[in-house]
Amino acid sequence: MKTGYVFDESFFWHDNGTGTLYLPSGGYLEPDVFVEHPATKRRVNNLLYKSGLMDQLQILKPERATKERIETVHKQNYVDYVKQLSDTTGGDAGDHAIVGKGSYEIALLSTGAAMKAVDAVMNNEVKNAYSLSRPPGHHAEPEMGIGFCIFNNIAIAAKYAQEKYGLKRVFILDWDVHHGNGTEKIFYEDDTVTFVSIHQHLSFPNNTGYADHVGSGKGEGYNINIPLPAGTGDAGYIAAFESIIAPIVRDFKPELILISAGQDPGMFDPLGRMNMTAKGFGEITKIMLQLADEVCDSRIVFVHEGGYSNAYVPFCTLRIIEEMSGIYTDVEDPFTGSQAPDVLNIVQKEAIDQVIKIQSKHWSCFNEPSLK
Ligand code: ZN
Repeated sequence: MKTGYVFDESFFWHDNGTGTLYLPSGGYLEPDVFVEHPATKRRVNNLLYKSGLMDQLQILKPERATKERIETVHKQNYVDYVKQLSDTTGGDAGDHAIVGKGSYEIALLSTGAAMKAVDAVMNNEVKNAYSLSRPPGHHAEPEMGIGFCIFNNIAIAAKYAQEKYGLKRVFILDWDVHHGNGTEKIFYEDDTVTFVSIHQHLSFPNNTGYADHVGSGKGEGYNINIPLPAGTGDAGYIAAFESIIAPIVRDFKPELILISAGQDPGMFDPLGRMNMTAKGFGEITKIMLQLADEVCDSRIVFVHEGGYSNAYVPFCTLRIIEEMSGIYTDVEDPFTGSQAPDVLNIVQKEAIDQVIKIQSKHWSCFNEPSLK
């Protein structure tokens, strides 16, 4: 079976307008390109074609999610507000969540793309699937859009998978450099979805993502935040995956793994301060694929989130899809060697140990004596 790849030309037509980094232009902010714009993701597509990998993927066409489906997560008045903005003047649907002309329909399609990837994996049409869509979703909360995210694609897809396929346990990993506050909020009191966000500590949103935010009520222990210090590179990420994420996946035994794949921990990202390389993205992908093989018949879906380096996101995403498909192109990372010396330093180690200490109250895997 092939790896599924979901995309639609419409995703490159969602228009955030002119901007200066993430702000609307005006005053002393000379108009520039808004930081979340089509080129980064179009260039992912282009590199997949140029490398020849696209020809070996199973291309899947998404359909728009219904309004009712969006409302399994979002409040009706918010959904109506997005449609109204999209039909008229456009504008901000919350906190830096720009809706352009026609963005409502594109956002429905973006959610539908994540659902299509879930369907293809659950029905064994593909070995795994990657959804490359805009707008992204993981910051979007039930009542408002945040950080370029309009509808929370992965959260809606997780609930869809539970409803349609009767899944009892879904695992969501969010490796975008920014905290997955929206997904956290949606599942905070839910014990059927374990949510892990590994992110740069206090980057965005600027007061969420703390390690001691562990969920509440029935969901206590099912929310895991791994806030890492700025500058963490491949070594620190791999250590966190091996010592926190892998044991929790084995303990939780999900029936489906969903990944919020934001490639903004990449070393050149304008909105992140991490040092991940394309090779590192390949390594963490490999870890998650192996876990999916172990616990859930290889059922794993990747949903694109952030990533703002036009130059580097395509190389990181290509490496991820190479690992997923098991097909390795002759594309090498042209930026190899640009990274700072990459070792797990004491500050990163302490951040990881702190998460383990907090989560050991909830997960027995951290209390068993080491076999090493
Ligand atoms: Zn991000």
